[in-house]
Amino acid sequence: MLDRTLTQATKSVAAILDRALAYGGQVITVSEGAQLLRARGGDLRAVAAAADELRRRSSVGDVVTYAVNRNINFTNACVKRCGFCAFSRTGVDAEAYLLPIDEIVRRAREATETYGATEVCVQAGLPPGMRGTLYEEIAAALKAALPRVHLHAFSPEEVVYGARRSGCSVGAFVERLRDAGVSRRRRRCRRRCRRRCRRVRPCTCRSVLPAS
Ligand code: SF4
Repeated sequence: MLDRTLTQATKSVAAILDRALAYGGQVITVSEGAQLLRARGGDLRAVAAAADELRRRSSVGDVVTYAVNRNINFTNACVKRCGFCAFSRTGVDAEAYLLPIDEIVRRAREATETYGATEVCVQAGLPPGMRGTLYEEIAAALKAALPRVHLHAFSPEEVVYGARRSGCSVGAFVERLRDAGVSRRRRRCRRRCRRRCRRVRPCTCRSVLPAS
């Protein structure tokens, strides 16, 4: 099946995939990676088949998992306006909002109790004049209300902004966020590690699906 799909690819794409698939595989270059990203039609099918083959060979295995989560964008006011998102507003814009912490907690509680979420993402704009403790206050309130929830919170931009608003180093600010309840990176839940997870804590992945 893989071989047949590779024959449908153009010569240059097939050559890149052949090298990536070779046992003891070779690392492809950045420009080759860019070429794969532009793949369409038969090339794209070949890239997908090669990726699936590499997944099968690696320790990922045939079981995939997912976490139910809710993303709470607690403000759209942003001093950065970097253009990466379309939702940010200046602090004085009539459409700018900043949710109170009670409302953030209410949304997180609704996500866990009504929809079975095990994880809450908290990410938003960089509100002008923000007090340096706001992110910690949000994390602490969420953890106090929902101690078992995995708190996946604050982008690198927010961490840098919070550190600046607090007058401390980024490293010190990350420690403060951790102490307030922001979770560490979730252990990847694979079939093999789930046995280990159960020994440490109940697995937070709600559902397990066969890869097919
Ligand atoms: S920093 Fe974030 S919220 Fe602000 S404009 Fe950029 S992407 Fe949007």
